[in-house]
Amino acid sequence: MAKNILIVEDEEHIAEGLKINLEADGYTTDIAGDGLEALEKWRSGSFDLILLDIMLPEMDGLEVCKNIRDESGRIPILFLTARDAEDDRVAGLLAGGDDYITKPFSLKELMLRISAIFRRQSWYDENRLQVDRFEFDNYWVDFKTFTASGQNGPVELSQKECMIIKLLAEHSDEVVTRDMILDAVWGYDVYPSNRTVDNFIVRLRKIFEPDSSKPKYLHTVWGAGYKFTPAGSDDE
Ligand code: CA
Repeated sequence: MAKNILIVEDEEHIAEGLKINLEADGYTTDIAGDGLEALEKWRSGSFDLILLDIMLPEMDGLEVCKNIRDESGRIPILFLTARDAEDDRVAGLLAGGDDYITKPFSLKELMLRISAIFRRQSWYDENRLQVDRFEFDNYWVDFKTFTASGQNGPVELSQKECMIIKLLAEHSDEVVTRDMILDAVWGYDVYPSNRTVDNFIVRLRKIFEPDSSKPKYLHTVWGAGYKFTPAGSDDE
């Protein structure tokens, strides 16, 4: 089955250009020209990925993303952001996006990122059954249902959040570098978007850390990466 991609973009020539190129690569697509239409199409359709512009009529991309995540949608969301809009990129990740690409982007890079998202997804789907559930302290993560129980009770995780916590759990008490995370979870080996990883750790800390400023489980190892200590430990 061809992967089905929802293109959310109000600039028609960009939307059409994306559609033509994605379909030439074997994907099926649909286009939404504003935020409300995007939500309607996502609710009534069956999509594998959303390309989401931020500046949109009716409802902006950040709100669209928040709504989807609030409705338990764990579909991968790739934001299209304006160049130099650093705030937008961070806001997109905090709203629940999986990644961003800045306009004007190279079509080749976009295609690589999209195929990487699907490749990592199949890697996850094929491997997740080895361990379905990981328990630590009073918490648990279910890699099969994309759910977890954190400090505020049960939550739904996005695919990428689930992939990261799985990778960290597999390397418990070891340093995991940002590059390892980018490579395993995003499938990139050339894009140094470390900020993307950092924002995901922020999201995971909100779920599992009683005090994000003093992590017990998800530690930053300065200059190296991250370390997950399931038994809980104070930062040195
Ligand atoms: Ca726009």
